[in-house]
Amino acid sequence: MSEIHPNVKRVLYSADDIKNRVQEIGKQITNDYKDSKDLVLIGILKGSFMFMSDLVRSINLPKTNVTLDFMAISSYGHSTNSSGVVRILMDLKSNIEGKDVIIVEDIIDSGLTLNHLVELLGSRKPNSLHTAVLLRKKDGIKIDVPCRYIGFDIPMVFIIGYGLDFAENYRELPYLGELREECYKK
Ligand code: 5GP
Ligand code: MG
Ligand code: MG
Repeated sequence: MSEIHPNVKRVLYSADDIKNRVQEIGKQITNDYKDSKDLVLIGILKGSFMFMSDLVRSINLPKTNVTLDFMAISSYGHSTNSSGVVRILMDLKSNIEGKDVIIVEDIIDSGLTLNHLVELLGSRKPNSLHTAVLLRKKDGIKIDVPCRYIGFDIPMVFIIGYGLDFAENYRELPYLGELREECYKK
């Protein structure tokens, strides 16, 4: 593996760990949706872009209309705590009414962001609505938001890489790492 970024305290999951886990989730989705007519995967930008691109490649549903859509939201700004306030920067391009929907999210901490999205998209009358979340901070949960597919349960540390940022940096790293505290604590 190439060198670890100096601002990464430790690597939690390597590119290979992620690849294997995402493939397992893809198999589960393939199995769960084999009778679906229309499946829409909704990637929440920007954090989920890498997870989304790997996940869709591990789904194999030749009898289903599989489509992708994206929604851009902003939650944290440049801080590391969730405000729970979600601002929609870009809405879906497609109508999800009557379709099977999976929201693809990078990480949940309090769960407030995903809960907001589930309520919002649920009001658009999909046939079904589930969530795939790469990372879940188990001790952060403040609200009971259902996650059907979870990549990894992680401790309460700030994660960067594989699409996840701190102040828009580090998204390009191919692994999931813990950001050094001195990089965000003053
Ligand atoms: P929640 O509303 O569940 O508390 O926070 C969810 C959102 O906060 C995620 O979509 C993500 O954008 C951001 N977030 C939470 N924890 C982390 C983290 O450890 N690293 C990064 N990069 N973003 C996080
Ligand atoms: Mg996110
Ligand atoms: Mg962010």
